[in-house]
Parts: sequence; C-alpha cells; structure tokens
Amino acid sequence: DTTHGAILYLNDITVSFDGFRAINKLNLDISVGELRCIIGPNGAGKTTMMDVITGKTRPTSGTAFFGQNYDLASMTEYEIAHAGIGRKFQRPTVFEQHTVFENLELAMKMDKRVRPTLFARLTSEQEDRIAATLRLIRLNGQEDRLAGLLSHGQKQWLEIGMLLMQEPQLILLDEPVAGMSDAETARTAELLNELRGKHSIMVVEHDMGFVTEIAQQGKVTVLHEGSVLAEGRMDQVQADERVIDVYLGR
Ligand code: ADP
Repeated sequence: DTTHGAILYLNDITVSFDGFRAINKLNLDISVGELRCIIGPNGAGKTTMMDVITGKTRPTSGTAFFGQNYDLASMTEYEIAHAGIGRKFQRPTVFEQHTVFENLELAMKMDKRVRPTLFARLTSEQEDRIAATLRLIRLNGQEDRLAGLLSHGQKQWLEIGMLLMQEPQLILLDEPVAGMSDAETARTAELLNELRGKHSIMVVEHDMGFVTEIAQQGKVTVLHEGSVLAEGRMDQVQADERVIDVYLGR
C-alpha cells in the first residue's frame, strides 16, 4: 500500500563527475500527494538530482526508489517515464502546429495504455478529462487555437496539462515560472495549489515569491553543494542561519 508511504526515496545518492561530487550523499523523500519545492543556489545540484530521478544520469552510489517497487538506478529513462515519472523542462515543448485541444489529446494517447486507440474517436470520458484539464490550465475557450500562437505562460500551462493527461504518479517541474509575467506567475501558483493533494509534485524554482505562494502548506528543501542544507516550512528555512549564509554568500 503506497498511499500512505513515500512516492520517492533518495538514500545517500552521490553523483561524481570526474571526482567532483555534483550530488553528495543526498537524502530526500517525497510523500504521496505532496507538493515539494526544491530551492538552492546555482550549482547546488538541482538539475543533477532531477536527472537521477528520471534516469538521465546514473548515481555513482546510493539508492533511489520510486514507490515500493521501482529501483530507479536499474531503469532506463524510457522505463522510468513509463513507470509514471513525468518531467517538464524549463522550455515549453508543445506541438506548435496543433491546437490546444489536439496537444492534450495527443498527450493522452501517447500513454501506452491508451495507444492502441490512437485513431479511435474520443470516448465521452476522455472528452471530459480534456475539458477538465482545459479549465485547470486556464485554457478553456482557447482549445481551437494553435499552440504556437499561445503566450509563453500559456504554453507552460499547456505542457503541464499534457503531463497531467498522461497521469504520472510523480511530476517534476523545472522552473515552471521562468520567463512568465507577474500575472502568469500568480496564476501558475493558483494552478499548482489546486493540484496539491491530488498529485505528487516536485518543483525546482528560483522565484522566491512564487515558492512562498506554493509552499504555504508544504515543505521546502534547500539544496547546497549536492546535499540537503535545510528542510521544512518556508518560514523555517528562511530563518535558518545556514540558508541565509548560502543565499547572501557570507
Ligand atoms: P543546479 O541545477 O542546482 O544549478 P546542477 O545540478 O546543474 O546544479 O550542477 C551541480 C554541479 O555539478 C555544478 O557545479 C555543475 O557544474 C556540475 N555538473 C553538472 N553536470 C555536470 C557534468 N555533466 N559534468 C561535470 N560537472 C557537472
């Protein structure tokens, strides 16, 4: 029963590049339904950690488990994606020549459980799922627009919607509000707060105002030099002397 356990366990993960430890004995657990923010200065190891979780980079040592059954260090990137870890990179990669609706439909049909019906008409249940996702990502009424014509922020939301259509069990978001306007950033915080408790999500983000908005009820992990420097509520980590030192470079 994984519903009360963790969805992700990283135990003593180290990643060395020619002897340099980008990740150094990292320990991190994500609970089912949690919205966890990961912050840390440039070079802290945030990207390398996400690369380990998605199988892009192999840990030099340590163990990484997804749910109870998946040993991530023994799986390929493809296997990990199909086991249910979805990652959104910083730059949106929507299908620009297709409509918003088609993007969501394609994302849903790329799920291997649905793929045999690639050319079948949508069921009413599938249409309802797309409609619900359109509302969630603030693009209802825009479903017939070409994705290439959306604003940067709307493309980011569409890509989050595409991830959701594939029903991943763990969602990794890499700087989801990079390049967004203040209004788009605020709406993205609302969107993620709506997902809280329904999905397990890890967000790596530099924008502290945004992190404060989405971390109000959750935990923040501060990475520094490849390991966890501090973890807790946003007000706790912000008041932590070690965190202040790292951010102010004292
Ligand atoms: P962040 O995402 O927190 O900015 P990264 O994970 O990108 O940090 O990088 C952590 C450290 O590891 C940095 O010092 C970076 O230069 C180094 N690093 C990352 N990837 C490689 C690589 N492929 N080869 C050598 N060093 C790397």
